[in-house]
Amino acid sequence: MRWEIEDNAEQAAFRREFREWLAENLPEGWTKALDEGDVDSFEKIRAASGFNPFTWTGTIGRSPYAAPLWPKEYGGLSGESWMPQVIRSELVRYRLPTVAINLLGVGLAGPTIIEHGTEEQKERYLRKILSGEEIWCQLFSEPGSGSDLSSLATRAVRDGDEWVVNGQKVWTTLAQFAQFGMLLARTDPEAPKHEGLTYFILDMKSPGVEVRPLKQLTGSSEFNEVFFTDVHIPDANRVGAVGEGWRCARTTLMNERAALAGISLDPVSFTGGTRRDPWRTFLDSVPNRDDPLVRQRLAQFYIESEVKEITAFRANSARLRGQQPGAEGSVNKVFNAEYNQRRSSFAVNASGMAGVAWLPDDKSAEARAQTFLRARANTIEGGTSEVLRNQMAERILGLPRDPEVDKGIPWSQIKRN
Ligand SMILES: Cc1cc2nc3c(=O)[nH]c(=O)nc-3n(C[C@H](O)[C@H](O)[C@H](O)COP(=O)(O)OP(=O)(O)OC[C@H]3O[C@@H](n4cnc5c(N)ncnc54)[C@H](O)[C@@H]3O)c2cc1C
Repeated sequence: MRWEIEDNAEQAAFRREFREWLAENLPEGWTKALDEGDVDSFEKIRAASGFNPFTWTGTIGRSPYAAPLWPKEYGGLSGESWMPQVIRSELVRYRLPTVAINLLGVGLAGPTIIEHGTEEQKERYLRKILSGEEIWCQLFSEPGSGSDLSSLATRAVRDGDEWVVNGQKVWTTLAQFAQFGMLLARTDPEAPKHEGLTYFILDMKSPGVEVRPLKQLTGSSEFNEVFFTDVHIPDANRVGAVGEGWRCARTTLMNERAALAGISLDPVSFTGGTRRDPWRTFLDSVPNRDDPLVRQRLAQFYIESEVKEITAFRANSARLRGQQPGAEGSVNKVFNAEYNQRRSSFAVNASGMAGVAWLPDDKSAEARAQTFLRARANTIEGGTSEVLRNQMAERILGLPRDPEVDKGIPWSQIKRN
């Protein structure tokens, strides 16, 4: 790694402690091989051990290192803000998964339950989120409510000790595998849009929940439509007070930005193993590299990849100093998303006909096309680039806020698409 930050004494001690834990909990010889730079031995040990990322999720999830900032009593360390960064760099060093398989549970649901949930909810859900025993999804976006999330229409009506839910969500990542969902629903249509919402934990196996996978451009189905027909949720599964759903949802959304900022979603992040240099992978996907015009574009992409690294470095160094990164998170999200799109479009364009048609066994051409198609989602997922630019304009540059034409008006009376 070229951009490195030196540990202070406390961080160095914590790093040693985590390294010892890794050495004890990984197959014999794993950490030693990598400490000695012996990648071949590491690969053999990994293959012989049958390393399984799901089993690993359980191993680290039952230790306090999967979520060091969570309270000790719920499986964390009640630790310092720099700890996740130290842990992450050790996971990279020892070629382990850096993104939790239960990303939405660990990154979004857990922090929301810790901040707004009841004692019973914390006891019931948090440890199983960390161990990956229960996968979570986020039931927020709807066909008419994405960026303008607080306008959503899924209804929850109280019926004694239960709520009855009807409506539809869309783009729900992992819903087809999830045991639980974070559900934002409208409980008071006569209140202004932000005030009539309530936040629930939904058991995805409840009668009346129908999950329909959506086929994406890439051919895979990461996300789903989810329909609710008279779904019953016990009031005990309400998170926060009735009508306080927006406050809880903001906690989820803030944590979503933090969880997604700067993470790489390439498969190695979930499985671990030897990661190819991403720059090398990109270079290999571009033909005609002797062409001076192609070389000029490649040089430009290289410069941009350095800018990206340096911005990520600034955010990481702020975290290690115990500070919250400033604008770097939003700036890097927008920059990364657009950079990925520019770069993958260029690789396809530079390939000519081979960019759009290839023989079935040409895995490299297939991967190039997949990367190009998947990159379309980068400027939408986790907040669109336009909306993030609005936020940066308001919060960082101090420009005036967007006019809110429906402020204070009951949700039932506002114009919706
Ligand atoms: C891969 C992927 C995974 C996702 N996973 C989930 C999930 O698990 N759970 C979930 O709830 N949602 C999920 N989403 C949904 C995502 O949060 C929404 O797509 C996103 O918030 C945008 O909403 P929308 O698609 O309705 O677009 P819209 O909000 O309708 O936006 C349409 C266009 O208008 C622009 N626009 C909107 N408002 C403004 C404004 N005020 N100023 C300027 N431009 C504006 C947008 O930038 C966009 O270009 C996922 C999306 C993707 C792509």
